[in-house]
Amino acid sequence: MHAHPDDETIATGALIAELAARGIRVSLLTATRGEQGEVVSGPLSVLEGTDALTHERERELAGAASALGIGSADRFWLGMPPARGAGLSPRVYRDSGMTWIRPGLAGPADDIDDDALVRAPLGEVTADVAAVIEELRPALVISYDNGGGYGHPDHVRMHEAALAASRAVGVAFAEVVHQPGAGTEWFTLDRHLAVVTAALRCHASQLTVDGTHIVHSGGQREPISTAVGLRALSR
Ligand SMILES: [Zn+2]
Repeated sequence: MHAHPDDETIATGALIAELAARGIRVSLLTATRGEQGEVVSGPLSVLEGTDALTHERERELAGAASALGIGSADRFWLGMPPARGAGLSPRVYRDSGMTWIRPGLAGPADDIDDDALVRAPLGEVTADVAAVIEELRPALVISYDNGGGYGHPDHVRMHEAALAASRAVGVAFAEVVHQPGAGTEWFTLDRHLAVVTAALRCHASQLTVDGTHIVHSGGQREPISTAVGLRALSR
């Protein structure tokens, strides 16, 4: 369960590829379409701030998920059935945006859309997440840790909703961690580097790939990660 297109690949791409390679069905819930994210300068930069960007990011996500081994019937948008609480009209949750508090730690944006994920009541978001869990009945729900990986408000909100919904439905929950540690099952998945790289390249409006590094639209570089941990939280 992720907040924006590209998170599935950056944070958990190798894990998804590994699960798919083991024949385990993986479903992906994405909360927003990353509307607030910057656009890589170049031919796609005309899309910044337009509805066309939304569609482009949906298209990019479809490509990346497919590359990682997630079938088109296993991709879901928060707010759209079956990821919508009973009796509620479908809705779109928009990207809440972020600002950098310091390198590596994000905080709330100055200007937050009324339809943003963080403006929605947690109960509504949780009901939507619970609805898709009820529908799919997975063995395990995976989402961010309580810091959202790097503090993005949408990631934190997805952690809260995914954990609460998993507990409500009675499904095991594990958070993604990026350092080995106590209580963490650590996966070293270098063999999926090529698949993760191919999936990353699908997110061309958000990032570019330079060898074994991701270059974000704002210029920040990070190594492509193929090692990831899962830490189970109690029900
Ligand atoms: Zn994100």
